[in-house]
Amino acid sequence: MILFKNVTRDVYSEKELYVLGTNAVLKAYGKNSYDAVNEAEKVLYDIDKNMSIFRSESEVSKVNKNSGISPQRVSSETFYVIKEAVRYSRITEGAFDPTIGPLVKLWGIGTSHECIPLRSDIDKALHLVNYNDIVLNETEKTVFLKRKGQSIDLGAIAKGYAADMVCKIFRKNKVSSALIDLGGNIYALGKKSDRSLWTIGIQNPFSKRGTFAGTIKVKNKSLVTSGNYERYFVQSGVRYQHIIDPRTGFPSTSSIVSATIVSDTSIEGDGLSTGIYILGLDKSIRIINSLKNVDAVLIDKNAKVYVSSGLKNNFALRKN
Ligand code: AMP
Ligand code: MG
Repeated sequence: MILFKNVTRDVYSEKELYVLGTNAVLKAYGKNSYDAVNEAEKVLYDIDKNMSIFRSESEVSKVNKNSGISPQRVSSETFYVIKEAVRYSRITEGAFDPTIGPLVKLWGIGTSHECIPLRSDIDKALHLVNYNDIVLNETEKTVFLKRKGQSIDLGAIAKGYAADMVCKIFRKNKVSSALIDLGGNIYALGKKSDRSLWTIGIQNPFSKRGTFAGTIKVKNKSLVTSGNYERYFVQSGVRYQHIIDPRTGFPSTSSIVSATIVSDTSIEGDGLSTGIYILGLDKSIRIINSLKNVDAVLIDKNAKVYVSSGLKNNFALRKN
């Protein structure tokens, strides 16, 4: 689905597209907004082509097919995203782990074959998950997974990288005000056209879509949420959601049901949001407080909302 609204060609352009497994909306204000949005669209499709695990010819799929066999040469973009993914794995003590592929495939959450797998299959897949088995060669730009059957899934970080790339294109085209929304992975560039701050809603994880738990006012910030409402299935009254804990092989059961990271770059927000979601409140708060220019809104199972100190003046709680 592609919809192009270019109201007054040089003032405002908006485009909706399906990319990276999600609905994306690009809204840009400014003289070059039409060209900027078109250029961004192309770049988004390229990122999808290189990094999707749903495309058998993508660079990531090739790395996965060659696991335990041979290093695979990739573009510097894909190399960078995998390298950053390893960095966020370390920061989140392995909660975020891009080698989660075998477990994601086994659970199939959000696909037609979603199910609770056999314990023995979970153990087998779990054994293959370890970001320390990613061998990166910076000069050759190759990626190698040490063991056969291992696979990389960049679903928890690629959208963040993509939002940063769109932002870069917009800035290059002198777009001074824009909202980049890649399926809830948001970058608010500059201020709104009326010079006020952008107001971004955080989905209430206990209410229907479009109901907000709170709002944040920002400029030049990325907001990325990992939430239990994104993709899940329910069996015998239990909800199994799409973020898998690499320590157990099961969907995360931490105290957090929604983790929003507010940061300067979206790759950082995306990488952190998934790990933070898994780690639970205490550890997550410690990690957030240790990082510069990173803030968070965390919602726990009891609907308690934790807001990091840097957001105190910009966050407003919503009573629904
Ligand atoms: P996000 O919405 O950014 O939290 O990403 C969730 C997606 O990342 C899932 O749909 C999986 O494809 C993948 N994923 C699930 N669990 C993990 C994990 N522990 N580490 C890295 N990626 C994961
Ligand atoms: Mg993420």
